[in-house]
Amino acid sequence: MEVTIIGSGTGIPSKTRAYPCTLVKIKDKHLVFDTGPGSLRQLFLAGVTCLDIDHIYYSHFHPDHSLDLVSILFAMRYNTPKRTKPLYVTGPTGLKAFHDGLLSVFGETIKPKTFDLHLKEIDRGELTSDDWKIIVEPLQHSMHSIGFRIESLEGKTLTYSGDTDYCAGILRLARKVNTLILECSFPDDQKVEGHLTPRLCAQIASESQCGRLVLSHFYPVCDLAGKNNNHVLYELNNIYKGEIIFAEDFARFTV
Ligand SMILES: [Zn+2]
Ligand SMILES: [Zn+2]
Repeated sequence: MEVTIIGSGTGIPSKTRAYPCTLVKIKDKHLVFDTGPGSLRQLFLAGVTCLDIDHIYYSHFHPDHSLDLVSILFAMRYNTPKRTKPLYVTGPTGLKAFHDGLLSVFGETIKPKTFDLHLKEIDRGELTSDDWKIIVEPLQHSMHSIGFRIESLEGKTLTYSGDTDYCAGILRLARKVNTLILECSFPDDQKVEGHLTPRLCAQIASESQCGRLVLSHFYPVCDLAGKNNNHVLYELNNIYKGEIIFAEDFARFTV
């Protein structure tokens, strides 16, 4: 599995961090997790066009995680060469209402003409395909928020939290996973309900015994950029002994 953090930011503009979006490549398939505003262009800069995307998974429907679906469907309709392979879009309860709402505003301009669009709502359970399995659990954030655990046929595992607070769901998804991507929204002394802090992320990593922790989804007030945060890293390593990566846009790693 090849993972690229397409956007490591949040809904608050940042000079260095784009809105939330993560790309997972398994064999020749492109799986995209969340598409905040501007994600389509960020993906393009990472070498992925609207012809390449196979699956999009939504963790929830806050606009900073979901808004670029409209741009993606628009581009897929008008792109040349024409897209012919199907697009699979998966998300929690609310996906169909979200898509219906987009249709009522944008109409024909976002209706696929040359390919099939498949929408699937899931709040808990398993999604299987030939090359991977994805486990879905509800998380503690908005009314319908989910996280994902992706398991390749070779037994490699990756968990993507979307937005969440500390909860049983994320611990289940993260249990002994190879790489754990967690949202890390606010500093520990400015904790906001429904979001994680650096210490809570380290606690989840420690309790779940994951192999590696990747922190992303940094609000400007919690902008942990790699080099200047040795003191934070030192503190977090007291809680979680494994490797910790502070994500930046276009960071790539192999699971
Ligand atoms: Zn959110
Ligand atoms: Zn968010």
